[in-house]
Amino acid sequence: MKVELAVEPLGSWIETNGKPLIIAGPCSAETEDQLVETARQLKALGAVHVIRAGVWKPRTRPGSFEGMGEAALPWIQRAKAETGLPFAVEVATPEHIELALKYGVDILWVGARTTVNPFNVQEIADALRGVDVPVLVKNPVNPDLALWVGAFERLAGAGIKKLGAIHRGFATGEASKYRNVPMWQMAIELKSIFPQLPLIGDPSHMAGKRAYLNELAQMAMDLNYDGLIVESHIDPDKAWSDAAQQLTPAAFGEMLDHLQIRQVES
Ligand code: PEP
Ligand code: MN
Repeated sequence: MKVELAVEPLGSWIETNGKPLIIAGPCSAETEDQLVETARQLKALGAVHVIRAGVWKPRTRPGSFEGMGEAALPWIQRAKAETGLPFAVEVATPEHIELALKYGVDILWVGARTTVNPFNVQEIADALRGVDVPVLVKNPVNPDLALWVGAFERLAGAGIKKLGAIHRGFATGEASKYRNVPMWQMAIELKSIFPQLPLIGDPSHMAGKRAYLNELAQMAMDLNYDGLIVESHIDPDKAWSDAAQQLTPAAFGEMLDHLQIRQVES
């Protein structure tokens, strides 16, 4: 059985004036000052539509920083109040969803390590039944398109209409200069299955290193992606997660200035 997706166009839930959706922010919310200051500087660029921040961090191995959890949610409220920008947070359990919504998080995303697990995705879908919130779904860690498709079918089956895909590249086990191999054809194939689904490129998690962000972001734009999500931190080298791939807000602004972005569609 194939579930048809009743996707509401991106422009109906976030105003970008026909430009690609730009989401930026730290891999993780670390402290109140780090989050608020990063959000302020990103807002000042004038080109960012949504701030991202990881609150619950799904680390592959234990012992690394696993996110500040609920303690970070009031910081998000403050950063929202100061910038007027909506916030996106990763959720992996019904409890995360309940807390994120309680504190006014605007957009939820499902991470690559969650998309791989249909039980997990179904729990998320069930927790979102009757809730009108945008949900972005990252591709699963490994190149298994059906898991990505299935996640959208589960969310759509629970009545979620504000859906988008985040393409963050794949762990293939093969040597690559990138942390996660883009395998662009996977995202193109997803788009051919669900043509109305907005597609957002995540060059940060593809690259793993600042040096490769520009080329990956440009490729996404050249392939007509609907947006980008990029990790940005006021002091990237001191970041508690994904330090090598984050950009200062100023460097992110420069990257945006140099990106060749397609013309606004009329
Ligand atoms: C993240 O966005 O910080 C993250 C953990 O990403 P992914 O799920 O793509 O690994
Ligand atoms: Mn990250």
